[in-house]
Order: sequence, then C-alpha cells, then structure tokens
Amino acid sequence: MRTAIVWFRRDLRVADHPALRAARGCDRLIPVYIHGPDEDAPWAAGAASRWWLHHSLSALQHALGRRGSRLLICKGPATEALLQLAREADATALFWSGDLPEPAARRQAAQVRSALQVAGISCHEFGGYLLHIPEALRTRGGQPFRVFTPFWKALQQSAPPSDPQPAPRALPPVPGQLHSLPLAALELLPRIRWDSGLAASWRPGEPGARKRLAEFAATALADYPEGRDHPAETGTSRLSPHLHFGEITPRQILHVVDREVAMSPSLLRGAEAFTRQLGWREFGAYLLHHFPHTPEAPLDRRFEQFRWRHDYAPLYDAWRHGATGYPIVDAGLRELWHTGWMHNRVRLLAASLLVKNLRVPWQEGARWFWDTLVDADLGNNTLGWQWVAGCGADAAPFFRVFNPVLQAQRHDPQGRYVRRWLPELAGLPDRWLARPWAAPATVLASAGVVLGRDYPQPVVPFAPSRQEALDAWHQSVRSPRVHGPG
Ligand code: FAD
Repeated sequence: MRTAIVWFRRDLRVADHPALRAARGCDRLIPVYIHGPDEDAPWAAGAASRWWLHHSLSALQHALGRRGSRLLICKGPATEALLQLAREADATALFWSGDLPEPAARRQAAQVRSALQVAGISCHEFGGYLLHIPEALRTRGGQPFRVFTPFWKALQQSAPPSDPQPAPRALPPVPGQLHSLPLAALELLPRIRWDSGLAASWRPGEPGARKRLAEFAATALADYPEGRDHPAETGTSRLSPHLHFGEITPRQILHVVDREVAMSPSLLRGAEAFTRQLGWREFGAYLLHHFPHTPEAPLDRRFEQFRWRHDYAPLYDAWRHGATGYPIVDAGLRELWHTGWMHNRVRLLAASLLVKNLRVPWQEGARWFWDTLVDADLGNNTLGWQWVAGCGADAAPFFRVFNPVLQAQRHDPQGRYVRRWLPELAGLPDRWLARPWAAPATVLASAGVVLGRDYPQPVVPFAPSRQEALDAWHQSVRSPRVHGPG
C-alpha cells in the first residue's frame, strides 16, 4: 500500500490543485497543513493575514471533510513535522505546490526536500501559484527582466496554461490514529476582536473566491479599464487575498475570463486590461524570486543613500491612523484598517504621500501594509512600494509626486469614497472635500467641521514638502542608475 502526504501551504483549495491530483494515484492520502511562523521570519504573516488564514483553513477542512478526507494540522518546523508524520503514517511520498516565490518558502522547501529524500521519501513538486516558472523567463542576454512590458510579452509568448483541473469528488479517508491539532490551537484570530469589519467584507476560502470571480466577471469586467480607477465603485475583482492564499489559481481566473470573452466579445478590452494586472502579480513574484533581498533593500542601490526624515515617528503615526489631513489618503488608511484592503489607486496615493511628502522610508509603509492587508503579499507589496518610491524595477520616477487633491478630484469626483470613510467631512460640498483646509470658514461652519478638532489640518503642506522631497532626491540619489546585485 502506497501512502502519500499532501503538504498544503498557500494552496488552500481542492480544485485545480496539481499536487493533490497527482497524489490521488496513491492508495492513501494524508493532507496536512504545518504552521511555522518562525520559519517565515522576518515576514511571518501579519494580523490581517492570520485572520484570513484561520478562515481559509476552516474552509479547506470543510472541503476535504466533504470528500471523505481530513486536514491534519501540526506546528512546524516543517521538516520535523513531515518526517514525524511520514513515520506515523508509513508514508513513502510527499506531494506539494513548490512555486511560492518568497525566500523563506524556498528555503523551507529546500530543507524539506533534502531531509525527506535522505529518509527515503520521494518528493513531488507542482506549480499552480504562478503562470510562469521564474527561472525560465530571461532577457536575450540571459539576465532577469527588470522591465514589465518585455517580461509580460515573454510570458504571453510562452506556452498558454492548460485547462484547470476539477476538484476531486472523493478522497480516501485519513486513518483515525493520526493526530491533528484543533485549528484554534494555532491562535490565528485576534484576542481582542477587532475583526468585525474584515468578517463583514470577506468570505475567505475557495467557495468565496469562486463567487467573487463570478460576480466580477458578470458585473465589472466589461468596464474594468475605467472602473478600476474609481475607489468608490466595486470596479476591480478583489481577488487579491484569494490569490495570495491559493484559494484560486491564476489559471482558473484566465479560464473564466476567456470563456466570458468567447461568449461576449465586447468584453475583450476589459479582459485584456484585467489580465495585464495578473501579469503584474507574476512580475512581483518574478522579481522576488530573482532579487530576494528587495523586501528590505531598494533594487536601485542609489536609494540606499536617500535622505529620509530623521524624526518621522509622529508623521508615520498620523499616516497609519488616517489622520494626515489629506482626505483621500486618510479614507484609504481607514478603509484598510476596517476591511483589511485598500483600493489600488488609493494605495498609490497613500504610499506616495508617505514616501515623498512625509519622507518616511518606504520599508515602514510596507511593514504597515504587511500587518494590516488581508492580501499582504511579499512580491506584490515590495513591487508596489518600490514602484512608488522610484527605487524598484520599472518604477515610477521619484520626481512624479501624486497630488492627493487633484487625484481625489479625478478619481472620486463626487466624494463618495471620502464621505464613506470620513463621515466627519460628509457635510462639506464636493468642491472642498479634497482640501478642507482651503474651505472658507462659513463653508466649514455650515458643514459642522472644525479643523483641528473634527479633522486634522494637513500634517505637512503639500507644495513645500514636495519640494523638500525633490531636493533630498537631487542631493542624495540623482546620479547614473545603479542596480543591486543580480
Ligand atoms: P484587480 O484590479 O482585480 O487585479 C487582479 C489581480 O491582479 C489582483 O488580485 C492582484 O493579484 C493582481 N494585481 C493587480 N494590480 C497589481 C499590481 N499593481 N501589482 C501586482 N499585482 C497586481 N497587491 C497584493 O496582492 N498584495 C500586496 O501586499 C500589495 N501591496 C501593494 C502596495 C502598494 C504600495 C501598491 C501601490 C500596490 C500593492 N498591491 C498589492 C497591488 C494592488 O494594489 C492589489 O493587487 C490590488 O489592489 C488588489 O485588488 P484587486 O484584487 O481588486 O485587483
């Protein structure tokens, strides 16, 4: 009798799961999840991600249970846990999804591979998390891509993904004597329950992912190129946390999008724009794979010299609490705190204000996002922050500083987004909503707003702080571009 262990990592689904599918060739199949935050250091899951993980694991337990199987839950380190389980279950094979790009995940996989092989257990790795294999895509000169468009072209020219695989209808039972921790033993949920906003906003797990994709395809895909830039609308898919936890694969998403376009060709424009964003996700993972030092250090090494503000703690605090005095940014940070997610356009504005006007190191912002986003993803988060800071691959030039007033007027013209998250400003007329400090006293009085009491004055004035950032950049960075190692 051949017994296989299926090691679930960030592939918390049963459909389109190549490792699970391949393991079904064995007589017995033992699904296991191993919790090892120490092994993920220094990027162990933040608070919002842990909340998501708890519910996603619960959904996976349910999905496996319905198929006659059972998810075992253990604590890490993964190598020890897997060796022990293999001994107890008399397993001779291990199957897992091996394409996570994070340095810690790759390190862990390498340790598991070598230890289990020494113990005579065959290791079988599969993909699923990404559409591409990072080592397979290189420039003509054999270097990793640093610019998105040629990367994306190369990816599109590689073999198209095959059709996603259906979920197994049934799985063999797991022997009763194999012990599992209860999910609660992982202590993923917060002790003080601040998570009601998350619970109201999301349905973690594979069924929630499928539902969200179906809704997006039916309602927002057609208008995605325009709708994606309006934070008050549900104009994007909100699939990012589901993708991060592997509750859905990019291949499944492409399959649904292609099917919709085949039925209704007018969706093509929206589908292309949406698919390109999935390409950015691939690029984030690709860069992390090839430049594993970038979550902490800029890819463009000139930025190691950048003159950040020394005494930035109070400004960083105001930013985190959504109290910068710039309504669109504050609305975003409050949306983040309440729902664990922030609209992409607002992420750009919040990041730009922090890094440029407040001159707080981008790594601080990345850390806050890491702790508070349900979709916190090391590849995408690093890409996003370094893009805004101008120090990453294919990044925006540093001197492009988003103006939060003009951006709010363009992307939230009726102020619906700002009014939703900053009810204290709801009474202001549209004209003043993006810049309450400039509103006449009579307007503020009739809206019931006292600046400094109900809502802060800007923590820094926009134009001078922009100029200071440009001066700092000129003095400390501006010189021929130097890239980091690799
Ligand atoms: P959609 O517009 O529906 O896009 C579909 C999918 O494509 C997303 O789910 C996501 O996986 C991917 N995607 C979309 N935009 C980007 C992008 N710019 N870069 C990489 N992938 C993208 N995304 C994360 O998933 N995790 C993060 O930790 C993260 N941190 C960010 C930090 C900053 C400073 C910035 C500017 C962006 C960050 N992003 C991050 C990218 C982007 O904001 C989110 O992926 C997007 O808002 C998720 O919403 P959605 O699923 O509705 O996206």
